[in-house]
Amino acid sequence: MSHFEYYKPQSLNEIWELREKIPGARYIAGGTDIMVRVRKGILAPEALISLRAVPELKNISSGEDIRIGAATTMTELIEHPQLESVLPVLVQAAKTIGSVQIRNVGTIGGNLCNCSPCADTAPALLVLEARAVVCSVQHTREIPLHNFFVGPGESCLAPQEILVELRMDKPNSTVKAIAMKKGRVQLDLALASVAVLLELEGNHCKKARLAAGSVATVPLRLREVEKVLENAEITEEKVREAQKVAMESVSPISDVRSTADYRRHLVGVYVKHGIQKLVDGARHDKRN
Ligand SMILES: Cc1cc2nc3c(=O)[nH]c(=O)nc-3n(C[C@H](O)[C@H](O)[C@H](O)COP(=O)(O)OP(=O)(O)OC[C@H]3O[C@@H](n4cnc5c(N)ncnc54)[C@H](O)[C@@H]3O)c2cc1C
Repeated sequence: MSHFEYYKPQSLNEIWELREKIPGARYIAGGTDIMVRVRKGILAPEALISLRAVPELKNISSGEDIRIGAATTMTELIEHPQLESVLPVLVQAAKTIGSVQIRNVGTIGGNLCNCSPCADTAPALLVLEARAVVCSVQHTREIPLHNFFVGPGESCLAPQEILVELRMDKPNSTVKAIAMKKGRVQLDLALASVAVLLELEGNHCKKARLAAGSVATVPLRLREVEKVLENAEITEEKVREAQKVAMESVSPISDVRSTADYRRHLVGVYVKHGIQKLVDGARHDKRN
């Protein structure tokens, strides 16, 4: 492993000063992705700037909108007193990540900025239509998450920019969502993952948002499936159509984890299962 300096600034201003002094420095949050690459010699940064002690990156607030600091760990997400009731789909996705040890240090910002197609929080955040708040010494900008991912390992961030927080509107009480993931074993990256969000009035679908991971170069909104479901009655035929369109919308690869065909099959199964589960849940809620 190459030698590098390590800095732990306490504020954004300190970060900007360090960046000016060491232009080749890289950011580190939990280190569960970047340190693997440094140890393997894929990356040799002259310095790592930790984001873990910067208060702006650790905030979670739930008011008109919901804001989650980028340096929030998966465990902090899971154990937060309000988040499970307002954003159950995100908490559900966070619970599927790695092991307790990985969740204790791995952050939501690191999961997104690493830009892996199999980042497990990405499909949930895509269906919640999260926005990424990004900041540099010159400016702050807000990017819809579907524009954040450019390709494997590549986000739309400039090198000096930091993902500060994720913002999303609070879903209303008729919105229900589910996140599903398949790994080879329990502690594994996803072969495929799908999140489904529906707003239902009886069997009528007022709003549909779907997204998938590990089945394209970036985590993907399944917009064609959304068009099938939105403003439609959810019948068995509609579910079959959504399943078929979902399978046609993805472009998976074959690798050590899975064949492309199996990944495509999983997406179809999860889309069908997710819709059925949410429709059944809405019926059950109405009866009680
Ligand atoms: C054993 C193991 C199991 C794993 N299992 C899973 C799994 O099941 N699912 C899954 O999705 N992932 C998994 N991962 C990957 C990893 O743990 C997660 O992606 C984690 O959320 C990364 O967060 P981090 O804080 O550790 O990121 P880091 O490693 O600190 O950073 C990752 C990248 O993002 C950049 N970065 C981090 N934060 C910011 C920011 N706020 N602004 C700008 N850039 C930033 C860093 O410079 C780096 O390039 C696993 C990893 C390991 C080692």
